[in-house]
Amino acid sequence: MTVALLSDVHANLVALESVLRALPPVDAIWVMGDTVGYGPDPVDTLALLRERGARIVAGNHDRAVATGLGLELFNPVARAAAECHRSWLSAEQRDLLGALPLTLEPADGYLICHGSPRDPLWEYVFDARTAVESMAATAAPRCCVGHTHVPARFVTGDGRAMINPGSVGQPRDGDPRAAYALLDTASGLVTFERVAYDIALTQRRIRDRGLPAFLAERLAAGR
Ligand code: ZN
Repeated sequence: MTVALLSDVHANLVALESVLRALPPVDAIWVMGDTVGYGPDPVDTLALLRERGARIVAGNHDRAVATGLGLELFNPVARAAAECHRSWLSAEQRDLLGALPLTLEPADGYLICHGSPRDPLWEYVFDARTAVESMAATAAPRCCVGHTHVPARFVTGDGRAMINPGSVGQPRDGDPRAAYALLDTASGLVTFERVAYDIALTQRRIRDRGLPAFLAERLAAGR
């Protein structure tokens, strides 16, 4: 089947809508966490993904916004946004977010999580060595992760693979366009995609909602 891999949407509804418009027909949408945090539209972003039937795991921002736990681990800007989001979500929406699983196995041989199989909420996988080590925690031959906001594909010596589609809502690889990937689960073929979105609109919404200005500025640089 064909799957759209989305991660780190970070409440950037404008970017998410642009990605959804750009998608070819897909059989499923898998979301590797951090649906909220940073951006202006946490409620509508979560609602839209649920409406589209996405399979969604929890990220570190999702857990912090849902529960208030772990906020002290964030930098001041991330923490300020998470506290805003926590106050904007209803108790019911926080419960929904808090109930997202750490890992899912949405199809044969595929495990999805935010950080890594070894530490689903917090571990950053930036290199093949860390990918290999962290995949020892699962029997699944293929993993889809997020968290770094940098698209990547690591193949281990035994033919296992870890795929990171990059970030829809706050790319950090120097390309400000929204990132996602398309996966053919049968062949394992992955194509990394980018789509331009109205960055100025998201920036305006960030400022209008009283979030830290830095969160708007960084979107233009993709850092
Ligand atoms: Zn993130």
